[in-house]
Amino acid sequence: MERKTAIDTCGYNGIKRVLITADEIKAAVEKAGKKISEDHAGEPLLMVGILKGSFMFMADLCRQVTIPCEIGFMSVSSYGSGTVSDEVKLKLDLDRDISGYHVIIAEDIIDTGKTLKKLSELLRARNPLSLEIYTLLDKPERRSVDFCADYSLFTVPDLFVVGYGLDCGERYRNLPYIAEAEL
Ligand code: IMP
Ligand code: MG
Repeated sequence: MERKTAIDTCGYNGIKRVLITADEIKAAVEKAGKKISEDHAGEPLLMVGILKGSFMFMADLCRQVTIPCEIGFMSVSSYGSGTVSDEVKLKLDLDRDISGYHVIIAEDIIDTGKTLKKLSELLRARNPLSLEIYTLLDKPERRSVDFCADYSLFTVPDLFVVGYGLDCGERYRNLPYIAEAEL
């Protein structure tokens, strides 16, 4: 049988190396889905994906959740690098009252921590039964505010990473693995 030695870059040129393979992601997402299913059995559960970066993580994670759950999406504006503003602007909000739900936020990556710190404050003010943050990736070396996720699937070094939903200039989101991008 022919063995593939080179990685499939889907025609993108800027992939340096694969950091986390599709199989490693799959195994970690299964484990996270199992934990959510056990922790929230019998409870009203709302899973909230933060667009666009978490779309693939969210789709895979919710398929590993074996209890009833509802799905929502939010979108927040990202700030440019070098910007001092830590304002997080909501571009898309949830379409329901979350006070009757245990809420799980699914995020692609925690970098400085500013986005999720603001977003979790905003959602906590809406009085959910509980609020937990599940992040696919955590880049702790870059943290500029005090924030940590409840569950992090992988820790990555201070590199710009793409794939499995994460982009660089809207490219690379469809790669099935996490890779280091050439900047
Ligand atoms: P924050 O700095 O923790 O607020 O992260 C804001 C957002 O920046 C994340 O949700 C990602 O969408 C994006 N981001 C941060 N680091 C990376 C990266 O290495 N690759 C792609 N997107 C990133
Ligand atoms: Mg994001």
